[in-house]
Amino acid sequence: MAHNHDHDPSHAHEHGHDTQSASEQAMLEQAQAKLRSLFAGMPHEVPLYLFASRDREDVFAKAARDVLAAIQKFTSKITVEEHDLLGEIAKKWNVEHSPTMLFDPDIYHIRWQGAPLGEEGRTLVEALTMMGYKTSRLSRESQEILAKIQSKRDIKLFVSSTCPYCPQQAVNALKAAVGKPDLVSLEIVDIQANPELAAKYAAKGVPMTFANDKLIAQGAQPEELFMLSLEKLEPQTYFIPETEATEITTDLVIVGGGPAGLTAGIYASRSGLQAVVVERNALGGQMALTPVVENYPGLTQVGGKTLVDIMVQHALEYVRIFPGEEVVDIQQQGLFVIQTSRRRFKTKAVLLATGASHKKLGIPGESRLSGRGVSYCSTCDGPLFKGKKVIQVGGGNSAVTEALHLKSIGVDVTLVHRRDTLRAQDYLAKNLFASEIPILWDTRVKEIRGEKSVEEVVLDNKKSQMTETLSVNGVFIAIGYEPAVELAVKIGVALTPDGYINKDDYHRTNVPGIYSAGDVEGGYKQIVTAAGQGAGAAMTIFEDLINPYWKRQNDTPVEKSS
Ligand SMILES: Cc1cc2nc3c(=O)[nH]c(=O)nc-3n(C[C@H](O)[C@H](O)[C@H](O)COP(=O)(O)OP(=O)(O)OC[C@H]3O[C@@H](n4cnc5c(N)ncnc54)[C@H](O)[C@@H]3O)c2cc1C
Repeated sequence: MAHNHDHDPSHAHEHGHDTQSASEQAMLEQAQAKLRSLFAGMPHEVPLYLFASRDREDVFAKAARDVLAAIQKFTSKITVEEHDLLGEIAKKWNVEHSPTMLFDPDIYHIRWQGAPLGEEGRTLVEALTMMGYKTSRLSRESQEILAKIQSKRDIKLFVSSTCPYCPQQAVNALKAAVGKPDLVSLEIVDIQANPELAAKYAAKGVPMTFANDKLIAQGAQPEELFMLSLEKLEPQTYFIPETEATEITTDLVIVGGGPAGLTAGIYASRSGLQAVVVERNALGGQMALTPVVENYPGLTQVGGKTLVDIMVQHALEYVRIFPGEEVVDIQQQGLFVIQTSRRRFKTKAVLLATGASHKKLGIPGESRLSGRGVSYCSTCDGPLFKGKKVIQVGGGNSAVTEALHLKSIGVDVTLVHRRDTLRAQDYLAKNLFASEIPILWDTRVKEIRGEKSVEEVVLDNKKSQMTETLSVNGVFIAIGYEPAVELAVKIGVALTPDGYINKDDYHRTNVPGIYSAGDVEGGYKQIVTAAGQGAGAAMTIFEDLINPYWKRQNDTPVEKSS
């Protein structure tokens, strides 16, 4: 039968023997011998089912048949049974598309829609040997992540024969399906062989990985990152290996993985210090709660979570990070001994970058509509409300400053204060009165209402006992901060009258060897200022560790280098 090779994918990589040089022939024979011995060593047989149409137009069906026939010439360990697409077996395994291959389907849930051509040849060999040797070859870290998966994961991986990155991702997926056959199933889909399914998932770039119909990765990933994405069912951008070490000695422990702590980690490590960052929750601090950041230089508009990923990836180039680990105690015994929820650190210096959180009103609607009209930061979100009506809640310095800021950028703002006098500094109060911003005195916000975003507030007047609703687009709340200072207080670090860490211009606290940076110091509470303070503190710590100011006779501040 004559073949048109231009349209036959099974011949895409075929060379004519007449044009094959002797050295190419030798290489081919070497590769075949290697493959033969690899298959010969397999302790288990791998039954493979092929469902492929006999339609001459179905070039992928023919190619799949040819590839499997070629493999069978190398080994008897792989048995191929071809079944009718309309037959009982196809029905039993729910196969409808030609060509489809099932690998040892009584044990594994691995199906391949397409023909293992071109780059995918590598994937096929990996799949067969993984099953033939009954080993997933997972790293210890990957095994640990996979062990955490307790419910079903149905992976759909879109690939193509010309994509050099696809085999890496396919092997990751195979390792998961072979390593956990009870819960993980895998469907490899060649986008050319099944364009309808690719279109359904909008899979235009390969490799593209879905699990339980959620996109978990675009492109190829390192193995551990793949397993993490599979576990979390969302794309992951970094993997931090866990360690069982119960004690770690270092130069600097940074408490807090927000922008201040992460930046300090980069600066400290780059200056030659051994530093670690310990974070009790997810990394990024308040940044991770920020839907969109529009005032971090260099990034016109960036999602808070994306900025966290960028910063964490950068920091991981330099500094060890321990997420999900809370610092619970600090003692000074020559070195500082830091007890976390998981281990002990011994360190020469400690940087407290523990941040702060906004005080909440604690009223109905506040949490639900946070980020949807409820905001704690006019500098951050004010521009989104230009020309719109909002209330600013509070009567202290922050609330008045924020109300003035909102007015100055063209927001229609009303101040709502629960007392009849402001607690703000005089000059701020004067500016507020001069600005003609309306003020609702003796008024509490009882409820914030709205379907998808803020629509109205319910206000209660203490004096008149009247309740009214006011239509607004936004509610800005500035009723104070709660700096995270429990640890600082425990180790004798002095606080300011406002409750923030009291430090000098170089971020030194009253306890030698203990420093602070970021929102926990008070002042401007922004990502860029926290990062700047983290950098400054790390530079001071480096200089102090090589020339401790507390041991010097004349305790003058260190000469700062630029
Ligand atoms: C909703 C929202 C929107 C914002 N929008 C913007 C914006 O658009 N632009 C902008 O510039 N700023 C914005 N900010 C402010 C900005 O996020 C903060 O100023 C900044 O994150 C402060 O950084 P930090 O590192 O000092 O503290 P944080 O970000 O608060 O990080 C401190 C970290 O320390 C950890 N920690 C505390 N105690 C311990 C302990 N004992 N052990 C281990 N870890 C500990 C905490 O879990 C936390 O992750 C916003 C804040 C919020 C809440």
